[in-house]
Amino acid sequence: MTADILNNARDESGRDAVISKFKKRFNRNPDFISIAPGRVNLIGGHVDYNGGLVLPVTVNRHTFVAGARGKDLGLLTVHSIRENESFVVDLDCPVSPALPIWTNYVRGVVHGFLKRGIELPGLEILIDSTIPSGSGLSSSASLEVAIAGILEAASGVILKGNEKPKLCQQAENEFAKVPCGIMDQFSVAFGKRDYMLLLDCRDESIEQILFDHEHLALAVINSHVRHELSESEYAIRRESCESISRTLGLESLRELTWSTLDQLRDKIDKLSFLRAEHVVRENERTLKFVSHMKNADWFQAGEVLYESHASLREKFQVSCVELDELVGVARQIGTTGGVLGARMTGAGFGGCVVMLVKREKASDAVFKVVEDYNKTGAASSRPRASGFVVDSAEGAQVIKCNTG
Ligand code: ADP
Ligand code: MG
Repeated sequence: MTADILNNARDESGRDAVISKFKKRFNRNPDFISIAPGRVNLIGGHVDYNGGLVLPVTVNRHTFVAGARGKDLGLLTVHSIRENESFVVDLDCPVSPALPIWTNYVRGVVHGFLKRGIELPGLEILIDSTIPSGSGLSSSASLEVAIAGILEAASGVILKGNEKPKLCQQAENEFAKVPCGIMDQFSVAFGKRDYMLLLDCRDESIEQILFDHEHLALAVINSHVRHELSESEYAIRRESCESISRTLGLESLRELTWSTLDQLRDKIDKLSFLRAEHVVRENERTLKFVSHMKNADWFQAGEVLYESHASLREKFQVSCVELDELVGVARQIGTTGGVLGARMTGAGFGGCVVMLVKREKASDAVFKVVEDYNKTGAASSRPRASGFVVDSAEGAQVIKCNTG
């Protein structure tokens, strides 16, 4: 194995690490630790904001947030290890977006609590993370949900039902100005170890589907590429889907079936048709994938992942050469090398590829994909890819520390 293959430690040391980092920074023990996983979306690319069907799995990369009641009653002091930066929120003043950008993921959640009339005590908070940022594993939602967990614990007010992920989504929309759908925050909050989460983003219902860990594993290959286009194109795709829905008089593209869309061919321009076609077919693919997984038809499930990638590349046009090459390399290695299927995951224009792999060949498959991809890019200035096998992980949780 090379350094490009990260070790697959279960992140258990993260909890101890955040406690000792908190102690070092604030000279005392935290009262609570809030732990939220990252997530990888197996299938259902770019359909969450179209009321579609997605299949995320929470994975063993985490945000760890430690918190304790502060000495200053009206202040939240927040420090991020990754950013190596602190900021302060005055709880007696209205909270609004401000620089640096990363603080808005926290400010937005604090604002959501205050807006609901929840009284927050002064707190000292430290954020640590093992989720690569900006790669499609949802470090942002994980941060928001972890912060919400600390604020619940400190205020004694537990948000009911879907309110916590919704508050966090709103924080990301309004404070970080990312027009994301509900998938990330819902999966981080409600994910379950050993399960895939079939989330219907229209009615917000969830079906837990067992992942066959005995035979299968998931792997994430990080291209370490992030193209400039990423944010603007995401917003453009979202706006374009909403505009197609308006033109067709629909609540969202989820209402379309293939036959109704086919009949509407002349009512929308070619590009809009391609976008809508992706959404309709991707929803069908999510259900097809689930059905293959339930029937242990893993080869067919893998094929559906490749189909999803092709549609994201050709019809929704959110892939990039690096992701296409990674998926191509994975396909070439194929089932004999342990790869059942692969697709880009997350917003696109860089970030990660998710692979469904055979359990007994999981590490070898990751090693080979990374090695082959890095070999072909060796002469260029392209970033080297890295990869790791991920295990499923519990959704967000808060632990009360024994400060005795
Ligand atoms: P993703 O959610 O796929 O990782 P995003 O661009 O949505 O990518 O979110 C990444 C952003 O979230 C970072 O640029 C940063 O602003 C914020 N963030 C995530 N984790 C942390 C952290 N540990 N400390 C501070 N900010 C973080
Ligand atoms: Mg995000």
